[in-house]
Formats: sequence, structure tokens, C-alpha cells
Amino acid sequence: MSSLSSDSSVRILVLGAHPDDAEFHAGAFLARHARLGATIRIVSVTDGRSGHQSIPSPELVEIRRKEAVAAGAVIQSEYVTWDFPDGSLTPSLEVRWAIIRELRTFQPELVLTHRTIDYHPDHRAVAQAVQDASYMVRVPKVVPDVPPVEREPIVAAMNDRFTRPCPFRADYVIDGTNEFEKMLDMMDCHQSQFYDWMPWIDRTAPPSSMVRADRLAWLKDWFLQFHGYRTNAFWKSAWGSTPLHVEAFEISEYAGVLSSEKSERLFPGAFSK
Ligand SMILES: [Zn+2]
Repeated sequence: MSSLSSDSSVRILVLGAHPDDAEFHAGAFLARHARLGATIRIVSVTDGRSGHQSIPSPELVEIRRKEAVAAGAVIQSEYVTWDFPDGSLTPSLEVRWAIIRELRTFQPELVLTHRTIDYHPDHRAVAQAVQDASYMVRVPKVVPDVPPVEREPIVAAMNDRFTRPCPFRADYVIDGTNEFEKMLDMMDCHQSQFYDWMPWIDRTAPPSSMVRADRLAWLKDWFLQFHGYRTNAFWKSAWGSTPLHVEAFEISEYAGVLSSEKSERLFPGAFSK
């Protein structure tokens, strides 16, 4: 385990498919880095227009944009939503070029995204587009109006539970218990998702009260009940007693190479197998 040292020069870019993916999969990790002084930029590649049972799409896009900005503010980070259509994303050249442009302008040291075998087609499309951009970001004649970077960033996938054809490989695991409440604060900003859309699509009961303390208690119970699997899946007993909340990351073999010195900067306090 490495020490939790402060390094304000770390730049982290999250490329998630939807507004809420970053905090849902890596909220504690991002909250930790924010506390240590990293510069974090969160991108939702799609506009969130489809994930609701009743709100019209144009209105929903604006709601999702505001919810994302609020979630980013919880950790003093920029959170933007792009205009690609939620629910219909493909790993097109247009998406790849947008990602290359983003990588070259923001110049992150670490990029977080999904895996290419995720359940959701939008997640898979983002993961594929990031993989496709990971080398091309250095090729000057691709997206020629933005100068290429000298080195590819490190790319890591955020944890998932899918096993075909290969299960998630937890290269770095963090005990996110200390940052769990902050993660819930970020998720709480996405009210149209966690308290409305997800109960509807999952056929579960929404919060009985939207008083802040009540809905946060509901959110905590919901998360631990349906997504607490991460602790059993990724935590090793040799690291200590099982934490309340765990996040894990798998390093991409298609992007930058992670040295041991860099791993302490990018995954502070993490355990590795
Ligand atoms: Zn998503």
C-alpha cells in the first residue's frame, strides 16, 4: 500500500457514457484525488436524453447537464456533458476524434472509462472509442488542428461485474470507505436518475421521502444492497477487514505504460494484486 501523499499536478479525465457513471463507478477515488489537489475533469460522452420514463428529451438533457455540473462541484471539478445521443452511441470516427481532441487539450495523466464488454451499448462504445484513440492521440495527421501529445495517458477501466469473455481484473483496489459519503453526495445531485429513473427501470421502490437526510439514507441502502458486491469481488482478506466500500481499476494494455513510481501518484493508497 502506498502513502496518501499530496500531489497537485495529477490530471485526471473521466470519459463515462452517461451523467452519473463517473461517481457511480469511481466516486470515492475521485473524491480522494480531489482532496489531494488533483485537477479532475469529468465528461459524459452522451447527453442523457433517453434515461427517463416521462420527462421529454430536450428537457431531460438540460436537467442532466445541471445535475452533472452540481455533482462536479461537490469535488470542485468540472463536469461536462457532450451532445452525442444517449442510448444510441456508436464508436464512430466522430466520437473517436472528439476524444482525441479532449485528450490533447486537457492532457490527462490518467483516463478512467468503461470496459469494452460492459452490458450497456453506450458504455461499450465509449470504451471502444477510448481504446481506438489511445494510440492515435500521438499521430499528428489524425485531428491535425490540435497538436499531438508526446505520450499516451494511462487508461484504466472502472469496475464492473461482467465475466464474458473475461472478468474484470482488479489491478488497483482502494478502500473508499472514508470517501463514501462524498460519493453519495455526488450521486445525490443526479436526482432524476437515482430517485426516479433507476427505481422505475429496476422496479424497485423509490425513496418514500425526498427530505435530504431520508433520501441519502435510501441511496446508501440501495447502493450497498445492489452494488456492494464490489467488496466481495475485489477485496482480499490479506489487506484487512472488509471495507464498507471498494473501488477497483483495470489498467488498459492499449495505452500508456504504468510504472511503479507513477502508480503511487495515480492510485494513492491503493492495494494491488
Ligand atoms: Zn452509464
